[in-house]
Amino acid sequence: MKCPKCGAGLTALPVDDVTVDKCQSCDGIWLEYGELEKLRESGAQSVEEMLEAEFGNPPAPMTSLDGYLRCPHCVDIGLRTNYVSYMQPVKMDHCVQCFGMWLDKNELDKLLEDKKQLDQVQVNGGMKAMLAGMMARLKK
Ligand SMILES: [Zn+2]
Ligand SMILES: [Zn+2]
Repeated sequence: MKCPKCGAGLTALPVDDVTVDKCQSCDGIWLEYGELEKLRESGAQSVEEMLEAEFGNPPAPMTSLDGYLRCPHCVDIGLRTNYVSYMQPVKMDHCVQCFGMWLDKNELDKLLEDKKQLDQVQVNGGMKAMLAGMMARLKK
């Protein structure tokens, strides 16, 4: 599969029991349908840092840009930009056909961090904390 952003080949890398496809060139990550939930369930944090430390940034073979912003899996399907969030909006590009999603550098970790914040809010039983989170978001 090719990176939808820069055209470099994606590398399959293991994170817990999920295999993510990472672009070693622009550090984006492709998640297939359900993989984000699995990562969130497992409580994984700082996945990108971990991958960087473990696998570094080997030079990725560059290919053409003809797949730009198209699903690396379905090839002919264009990706649509969306915002997903519980606590803070994170941009992602998703495929309407296979429901895979493309996350730019640092966006995966933001999403995982987001889940942690949400859990804390729920643990604190906080309608109040939830509202505070929303207010903080509106102020940005
Ligand atoms: Zn890339
Ligand atoms: Zn797709």
